[in-house]
Amino acid sequence: MSDQRELQNGANDPTRRIAEAAASVAPRLIEIRRDLHAHPELAFEETRTAGIVAAELSRLGIPHRTGLGKTGVLGMIEGGRPGPTLAIRADMDALPIQEETGLPFASGVAGKMHACGHDIHTATLLGVAEVLKGLAPMLAGRVALVFQPAEEVLGGAAAMIADGAAEGIDLALGFHNMPEMPVGTTGYVRGACMAASDRFDLIIRGRSGHAAHPDHAVDPIVAASHFVTQVQTVVSREVRPLRPAVVTIGAFQAGTVHNIIPERVHLKGTVRTLDDETRDTAEAAIRRLVAGLETGMRVTCTLDYVRLVPALANADRVLDPMLAAVTAQLGTRPEEGDPTMGSEDFAEFAARAPAAHLRIGSGTLGRHDHLHNADCQPDEGSIAVGVQALSRAALELLA
Ligand code: MN
Repeated sequence: MSDQRELQNGANDPTRRIAEAAASVAPRLIEIRRDLHAHPELAFEETRTAGIVAAELSRLGIPHRTGLGKTGVLGMIEGGRPGPTLAIRADMDALPIQEETGLPFASGVAGKMHACGHDIHTATLLGVAEVLKGLAPMLAGRVALVFQPAEEVLGGAAAMIADGAAEGIDLALGFHNMPEMPVGTTGYVRGACMAASDRFDLIIRGRSGHAAHPDHAVDPIVAASHFVTQVQTVVSREVRPLRPAVVTIGAFQAGTVHNIIPERVHLKGTVRTLDDETRDTAEAAIRRLVAGLETGMRVTCTLDYVRLVPALANADRVLDPMLAAVTAQLGTRPEEGDPTMGSEDFAEFAARAPAAHLRIGSGTLGRHDHLHNADCQPDEGSIAVGVQALSRAALELLA
């Protein structure tokens, strides 16, 4: 059969063609994934990983740029006809966790582990690259393959974008493995699917003194304790009841011994919201409570409030074609799920182009894995599923 003839048959039956291509690349992807797993690299240190990605793209004849956002890699597949540019993004970084899986390819680096499955994500996007390179004549437009560093610190996407990674992007796809969902299944959320993440550091200064003479001191511990209680009212009394929000104080650092009132307290908090209005409401309320603390409790406060990433919102015009494509390819429709108050810096791409985020089941029967856990073992069977789903979605979005 001639190439042209084969292409036409492929166009008539993309399901079979993509399924076969995914199956044929899967063993190599699993090899790559296990190698990445054994050599985890933390945020902005993904030099070995990026080197493997770049070498694979070179092997596939896919032009790419390296060093975006320090360690990111951006590949580009040109389609056969003009059209929009679709970005597909994978994250590459590991976590500062000591692995306890006992797997034969467990992390060989003390205190570092791919506990969020970003090794699986990187391998998946390499598979998508190979499949779409083979289907390039059928694509109207271009596919930007975004291999992103430093998702876990919510900084890699912004760093890559600062280096031009989002320029000319018209549409974007992101994805994450989900150990709560069985391998072979997929899922999605309509609208806002992951939360904006903001954080604050609050330094509360009083006046230190003898614990037996509080009238000669200004006690920052009592002031900070009031603040921790008051800040609970941001969610319970200020935010609209049907708008999700979380405010958590994760650190309360103060004092040394029993009989000294300390000079200062350091609080660290995180604020999660799913929409801009609630995000603004929460920040304004926290700033007001801090001002009130100074007046009411005689302390001096320094508040450093940082907006890290926006909420990740799926756009229907990308989500719906993606769902149709995944359903056609896998034979089952992705399952609609609830949003999560976790955050994901793919949101930075989604803030610049209409986007959709696919959940890819990576759960093994009988196991109850949680991401960011030392024993987390997402099923690598999810790689081939992701390759099929994302390749077909790209084909549909660039039809
Ligand atoms: Mn992750």
